Amino acid sequence: MTHLKLDNVTKQYSDVVAVDGMTLDIEDGEFISLIGPSGCGKSTTLETISGLTKPTGGHIEIAGTDVTDAAPKDRDIAMVFQNIALFPHMTVEENLTFGLRLKNYDQEAIDDRVSRAADILQIEGMLDRMPDELSGGQRQRVAIGRAIVMDPEVFLMDEPLANLDAKLRVHMRTELQRLQQELDVTTVYVTHDQAEAMTMSDRIAIINEGELQQFAPPLECYNEPANLFVAGFVGSPSMRFVNGAVEDGRFVDSTFGFDIDVSGAPVAAGDDVVLGIRPEDVYLEGSHRDLDDTTTARLMVDVVQPMGDELVVYLRADDGDVTLGADLDEEGGRPAGGTDQLLMTVEPTADLSSGDAVDVVLDRAQIHLFEGTTGEAISHGLGVDDEPLANGAEV
Ligand code: ADP
Repeated sequence: MTHLKLDNVTKQYSDVVAVDGMTLDIEDGEFISLIGPSGCGKSTTLETISGLTKPTGGHIEIAGTDVTDAAPKDRDIAMVFQNIALFPHMTVEENLTFGLRLKNYDQEAIDDRVSRAADILQIEGMLDRMPDELSGGQRQRVAIGRAIVMDPEVFLMDEPLANLDAKLRVHMRTELQRLQQELDVTTVYVTHDQAEAMTMSDRIAIINEGELQQFAPPLECYNEPANLFVAGFVGSPSMRFVNGAVEDGRFVDSTFGFDIDVSGAPVAAGDDVVLGIRPEDVYLEGSHRDLDDTTTARLMVDVVQPMGDELVVYLRADDGDVTLGADLDEEGGRPAGGTDQLLMTVEPTADLSSGDAVDVVLDRAQIHLFEGTTGEAISHGLGVDDEPLANGAEV
């Protein structure tokens, strides 16, 4: 049975639809993340599950019970927020036990739960300390401990790692993963950090303007994005898009001059189509023995960014009339249907500089096609026999 169910949940403020017909079936013990750009409705969705916000439409079920109208305290949930609101005048132990005392648990049950949570979070030695004697990471562990001791049906977490520095965030991410494996409690996690969502979640719900775009395992969202929005949102640096049309079973575009056989895809002559390709699926011609040359175009190197393990190369049409360095990558924004720029990643020793003309080849197995007007995905990979090129098989 589905453990947590959102059925067509909508939240409308006077002039804003913050959440628009959200339907999510979440299994028992599943860890799911809500991701999307700022203002897309992640927190509001979470608040409707917690009961802090009442939806204007739809229903919410927890463990088979309709809780749409239940007060937060009557839902079997525990929340962890971005702002770690520990009570400053209470010790760690008092912070951990506060919620249990409110619910009139007896001392033995309290001691049991605190010692289990302290053990899981490795904070046994800190129970007598005051919050201001803890580091940021320790404080966040205590905040999570406060949720664990409640032994809820569902954990709700709203950007719990956002206030930690980058290194600690990566560390806490691993801790949360371990915790999830150990506790196996259904968790809904809000983040704008897609790396966090991709690494920790069983499934991710990608939201834009209050509407669910795709709800699937992270790799499925990455490899088979449902539409242009998901394709541009998941992955960094992100997929790039080329506007074109289908003519005689071929995708042709006027910006880069691609002319690619798409007769295996369900497209018809005259269709407006957007081609999507990720940086790692664009190669220099001749750099890979398995590449065919049917997807080649001559482009110009605009900007080269060394990342250490690879170079990210920004490519433009080789029309002899471009401004070098213009329009650098804008991560996180809503992707347009097409751009006049492609990205390619190459080995760090590649000898490329601004202004070089290069012949690039797209890996046919990794070419995504989208419907030009709706942005819905048409196909992922061209041709049934296509296999992605294996990493490390470069000549
Ligand atoms: P996210 O968590 O994805 O950043 P939110 O759920 O906080 O997004 O907000 C979604 C939309 O709803 C935004 O446009 C926001 O301005 C609006 N919103 C959120 N809370 C309220 C409120 N209390 N009153 C009016 N509008 C709100």
